[in-house]
Amino acid sequence: MDAPSKPIDRIVIVGGGTAGWMAAAALAHTFNGSGKTVTLVESAVIGIIGVGEATIPEILKFNARLGIDEADFLRETKATFKLGIEFDGWRREGERYFHPFGAFGLDMEGIAFHHFWLKARAEGGDEPLETYSMAWQAARRGRFAHPQGGPQSPLSSLGYAYHFDAGLYAAFLRRFAEGQGVVRHEGKVVEVRRGEDGDLSGLTLDDGRTIEGDFFIDCTGFIGLLIERTLEAGYEDWSRWLPCDSAVAVPCERAGPLSPYTRATAREAGWQWRIPLQHRVGNGYVYASDHISHDAAEAALMARLEGPALAEPRRLRFKTGRRRECWKRNCVAVGLSSGFLEPLESTSIHLIQSAITKLINLFPAKRDDDGLRATFNALMEEEFTTVRDFLILHYKVTERAGTTFWDEVRTMTVPDRLVEKIALFQATGRIVRRDHDIFAESSWLAVAVGQGVKPTGRHPVSDVLGRDENRGRLAAIRDSIWRTADALPSHEEALTAAMGVRRG
Ligand code: FAD
Repeated sequence: MDAPSKPIDRIVIVGGGTAGWMAAAALAHTFNGSGKTVTLVESAVIGIIGVGEATIPEILKFNARLGIDEADFLRETKATFKLGIEFDGWRREGERYFHPFGAFGLDMEGIAFHHFWLKARAEGGDEPLETYSMAWQAARRGRFAHPQGGPQSPLSSLGYAYHFDAGLYAAFLRRFAEGQGVVRHEGKVVEVRRGEDGDLSGLTLDDGRTIEGDFFIDCTGFIGLLIERTLEAGYEDWSRWLPCDSAVAVPCERAGPLSPYTRATAREAGWQWRIPLQHRVGNGYVYASDHISHDAAEAALMARLEGPALAEPRRLRFKTGRRRECWKRNCVAVGLSSGFLEPLESTSIHLIQSAITKLINLFPAKRDDDGLRATFNALMEEEFTTVRDFLILHYKVTERAGTTFWDEVRTMTVPDRLVEKIALFQATGRIVRRDHDIFAESSWLAVAVGQGVKPTGRHPVSDVLGRDENRGRLAAIRDSIWRTADALPSHEEALTAAMGVRRG
């Protein structure tokens, strides 16, 4: 058999933000003892974006894969637990709904719970869907527990993620990665060098040092120093569906108890996030600069803080979309260099994790493996696209009116695949997930119902239960969830306890 033409021994990561250190930690952990080296270059002068504090439950798998202890992680990143996202004012001003992590109710007769809820609603019941969510019932009481018990236990239906301090998380992962042998260089890359074949071959730093490599991971953030500035992989612009292009972020002191969820509040030209951490609350206004000035957005955010600001507000600009080829030649873009979707459903860190997992699974034995590269790019495209569609759903299906921003998004033409998905749900109550969709059926359900989609049909099996039996079962499920929620410890108690317990 022929020897691999271009072996990969030296992996070089450029960038030391969340993406860079997650990639370094995972690659070093995976290739430990294989003879491959992992080197990371970062520039303190350029710094990191420093926002990105809310996650989705998949992050638990990343930590578990690395063997990270939850207590250490919670302590060192000043993390809190997250049971979902409360959407305030998205359907109409003053109305709220919750996108919980975990399931609604209990599946019955082999079909999803929500068909029985639709049946009850069609027969005059008016309990909102989140009545049957363990995560929401815990969240609204400010309580938390880890998922536990068998399938009949309400607590088994819980899902959770974290809020954490992005800077502390990068530092935490750096310690982990360096412990796995990653070599870090401080310095600004001023030149990206290419070999005769066009592949990347090395970097030159501002002090003249050079770093050679066989395979490069571009974690340089929005600039895409390797993947775009050097390799010109291209960018697909999605701002016609997701017109927010700016954010202003500021931390503040917390007023009130520690809530175990993110809040996203619809505003005149976008939305505002609230992310509670142990030591502060992260706030930001994500907006479309065509519809509000930067100064007005900043003033609106500062006027709505719950406590004194702890830093100066920071303004950020972005273009929603995805890198056309996340993997080009011997370079893979991970993080903001691979694309950006606004943080409405906290998906960026997950997309980092997902890219790293795919890269590890598809890691080539030699540099010029076109099949693996094409597969990776197709999978990333599909994943970005499903997140895109999920985000668009929040803007398209709304009754908000009266500002130019909301009038524009409510009436925009959306991608066909989303149109079909909404139509199917509306007519039949069915949600069909695509492969590689990050979001579970319950997530699509929560947002579609919360935004005001009212299915007219439902699964016929729901009619095997008579009206009273159905109502009785729903009431029993609700009572069991509510009793369980009432008995849980507060979020702060659960957090304090978890920080003292090793949970790898
Ligand atoms: P960065 O943090 O920008 O890091 C880039 C790195 O590259 C830095 O270390 C920099 O020094 C280095 N670098 C750049 N150029 C050079 C050079 N020439 N030489 C050497 N080094 C260089 N995600 C979530 O999952 N949840 C959220 O709640 C969330 N909220 C967000 C809110 C906003 C407003 C924005 C804009 C993003 C948010 N994100 C969120 C996304 C999240 O912040 C990013 O996905 C995450 O921080 C990863 O960033 P990164 O590591 O790709 O880039």
